[in-house]
Amino acid sequence: MGEKRLNERVLSPEEFVSGYQYITEYLKAGLPLCDVLKRALKYFEDQFVDSYCTIMLLNSKGTEFVNGAAYSLPDDMLEKFMHIRLFDGLGTCGTAAVRGELMVSPNVHNDRTWRSFANVVKPYGLKSCWSVPVFKPGTSDIVAIFAVYSKYSRYPTQRELDTLSAYNELLGLIVSNYKIDDSGEIEQLDLNEDDNLNSKTLYVESIKTGLKNGEIYPYYQPVLKSDGQELHGVEALARWEHPEKGLVPPIDFVDHAEEYDFIDWLDEVICRRACEDMKKLMDDTGKTFTLSVNISAVHIRKQNFAQRIEDILDETGFPADCLAIEITETSLIDNLTEVAVTFQQLKNLGVKIAIDDFGTTYSSLNYLKYLPVDTIKLDKTFIHDVDKSPIDRRICKTIIQLGSDLELDVVAEGVECDQHLSIIQDFGCNIYQGYYFSKPLTLEGWKNYLEQF
Ligand code: C2E
Ligand code: CA
Ligand code: CA
Repeated sequence: MGEKRLNERVLSPEEFVSGYQYITEYLKAGLPLCDVLKRALKYFEDQFVDSYCTIMLLNSKGTEFVNGAAYSLPDDMLEKFMHIRLFDGLGTCGTAAVRGELMVSPNVHNDRTWRSFANVVKPYGLKSCWSVPVFKPGTSDIVAIFAVYSKYSRYPTQRELDTLSAYNELLGLIVSNYKIDDSGEIEQLDLNEDDNLNSKTLYVESIKTGLKNGEIYPYYQPVLKSDGQELHGVEALARWEHPEKGLVPPIDFVDHAEEYDFIDWLDEVICRRACEDMKKLMDDTGKTFTLSVNISAVHIRKQNFAQRIEDILDETGFPADCLAIEITETSLIDNLTEVAVTFQQLKNLGVKIAIDDFGTTYSSLNYLKYLPVDTIKLDKTFIHDVDKSPIDRRICKTIIQLGSDLELDVVAEGVECDQHLSIIQDFGCNIYQGYYFSKPLTLEGWKNYLEQF
């Protein structure tokens, strides 16, 4: 999964679609990659004052320049660039690019490490070069290096930097339509395959637009205790009210947000909105209850996670001791001691921590050992057949017992009928969630539901 690169300005959906259409027209016509890139570079050059843009294609291992394209820069000059080794001269930028950083060399003539590069550009009156790595969308593979050569001896302006990083996404998309082998042979991939990739990229863009437009917001599912007579809390579950498709469940967008590295954005949108809504509801009704939000494990590893939660609590005025964070483990947390610090910061705020889908991953037990957990959520797959399957019964009983030994709350998810409820009650579990009590509700529906308590 790719980390967020540079200070990414994400292309607006309109820019993305128009740039994308502009380029795909050429892709579809089956033109050679360098011609398609030339067309794209023309588009980019207009954004930079007195500058030329090139793109240097890397071999399949990402270790050497094997091809390239430039728009108004003379071909022979491009040819010379191709002979500068990636890790030498221009390679300084290559090295930085491999680390995923923007490389800026303000004045190539004064920089000794850039001497071989300077020799190439001097005759053309070029004085500075900035370059950025181009990634294949959705991966951390560097497929090319995009460079801007300026006649000025200066750093790029903020607007130019923004443009550079935004167009990176488009360049990555173009290049990933082709296969470039080690010798520099370029072959266009099967267009059907491309269509899949492209439609996925467009779908991801539409999710981001949905987030920006407020189309993705929480539904609320009640969590009960004591036979369902008492309220324990509520879980915020993301829904996307798509303008054409209607209500889209999280399974159709949460994974994409993880894969394309904007799950933190999604989680925070849901968390903030739920805190706002529930704060108002608590104030209006005088009732208090626990609000649970789902946070992907990928997100927790990011820097300042605890700080971001604290900011949301400050901004919304939601009481920290009423918030519970449910960790969903879709990708392994490999360094538990590192995240333990984040968890402790959350605990210090008063926030509770729950392990979601407990028992479905092999590291579940490790979480209990290393992290300050308050609650485990017994996964609904165990509850589903608890009345029919002796093994599932045994698993439920053991996990409930484990929770009780460790003095943790155990919430049973997916309680759908009387039998489910009475079996897990016999095992000593007294917090439940499931269709038996209520499906996830709109804010209005949840307000009405709350009135009975
Ligand atoms: P989860 O956190 O385990 O949430 C419980 C899921 O079970 C919800 O599905 C809920 O609607 C469903 N459910 C509740 N009671 C029953 C029942 O009695 N029977 C059955 N069959 N299902 C029941 P939903 O809303 O589709 O969410 C699916 C998953 O998407 C969630 O599973 C959670 O992992 C993820 N998710 C939802 N919202 C967010 C979010 O804001 N951020 C992140 N990172 N993940 C989210
Ligand atoms: Ca959950
Ligand atoms: Ca679950």
